[in-house]
Amino acid sequence: MDTVYKGDKENCCGCGVCEARCPRHVIRMTPDGEGFLYPVIDHEHCIDCGICARVCPLQHEGSFKEEGRPRFFSATHNSEEVLRHSTSGGAFTAVSDVILGRGGAVCGADFDGGLRVVHRIARTAAGRDRMRLSKYVQSDMRDVYEKLAEELGRSEVLFTGTPCQCAGVRSFFNGSPLAENLFVCDLICHSVPSPLIWEGYKRLLEEENGGRLAEVRFRSKRYPWLRKNSNKGFMYRIEGADDFLEDGRFYNLFIHRGTIARPSCERCRFTDVRRASDMTIADCWGIEKYAPELYDGLGVSLLIVNTPKGAAMLEAISMAMRISERPEEEITAEQQRLSYPGKFPPERGEFWELVRRSGLKSAL
Ligand SMILES: Cc1cc2nc3c(=O)[nH]c(=O)nc-3n(C[C@H](O)[C@H](O)[C@H](O)COP(=O)(O)OP(=O)(O)OC[C@H]3O[C@@H](n4cnc5c(N)ncnc54)[C@H](O)[C@@H]3O)c2cc1C
Repeated sequence: MDTVYKGDKENCCGCGVCEARCPRHVIRMTPDGEGFLYPVIDHEHCIDCGICARVCPLQHEGSFKEEGRPRFFSATHNSEEVLRHSTSGGAFTAVSDVILGRGGAVCGADFDGGLRVVHRIARTAAGRDRMRLSKYVQSDMRDVYEKLAEELGRSEVLFTGTPCQCAGVRSFFNGSPLAENLFVCDLICHSVPSPLIWEGYKRLLEEENGGRLAEVRFRSKRYPWLRKNSNKGFMYRIEGADDFLEDGRFYNLFIHRGTIARPSCERCRFTDVRRASDMTIADCWGIEKYAPELYDGLGVSLLIVNTPKGAAMLEAISMAMRISERPEEEITAEQQRLSYPGKFPPERGEFWELVRRSGLKSAL
């Protein structure tokens, strides 16, 4: 069994569909030196069937993206409680409420007991609530595909994730009758940060505060929802303490520097208005300039409707959200990740070298 990934890192987004589809189970998604998962193949038992390459969403022509023209909407949840517990305007809660209300299941990013970010499936509002709020770390999708297939055999399922994860899920169910029950909702994605840096950062906060981390929020509504405030909200709580503390170091590496992003993010195929999903949700940045009457400081979602299923969902959530159609040019002017990927800074290599040589604290 090989122990390292031999391919070009820019050509693997870590969705893991190759592992899930391998008929001989000879692929293992394995973390590399930056903590990102890559497929490692046991060549001794591999039968060279080529399925792994055929299901890879980055190698698939069109990457499972829709061809029709999408429509763009701003949307704000009617409930203040939902807005306060959502990153943007609460679109995820509205969409997942529809699916849960029809007896379906929701698959999204949750924290495990050690605050690692993992994809899970929930059938209750309480389980779904754990998926609320953005966790700016690449989530672990291992084991999710088989579970999704089981759930889709029983009922409708909402899958939410980054665009590349959604393309992986579309690839897995491509041609399957189970896809009828699948509603795919992606996010506009800046990039996914390293799980290894996340582990190091959690340990650093624990060391600095002399206690175990109990809770984290990557963005909060302590400050008015506005793009210029989006880097201020990282908060954490140490076990036994009542108050949340703030720290900007992780978010700074994520947004302003891009030093901790997955290599494939710099060549992302999904920074496009054509999406590999039924609906896309994101921040409706800039709405305060274009339609000040729709801005209230608690968050506004951007919804992109990509398919007839997406249009039916828009109708279904219209009782729970205030929705207004917006012109495409307004949205693309604000959302660069609908047009091109972010560029990595020249110091990315130097940062990782420092992490390896002297540890995260010095590198920070
Ligand atoms: C890594 C990442 C980068 C993003 N980049 C941008 C951006 O550049 N521009 C922009 O407008 N919006 C971006 N978003 C989306 C934005 O932060 C909100 O997640 C989105 O607007 C949904 O907010 P909400 O109020 O509808 O619901 P919330 O309740 O905040 O919903 C959270 C949703 O995000 C999913 N999610 C959370 N963490 C992860 C994760 N690590 N991996 C996969 N899915 C996750 C959950 O499953 C759930 O569906 C990004 C999100 C992530 C996770």
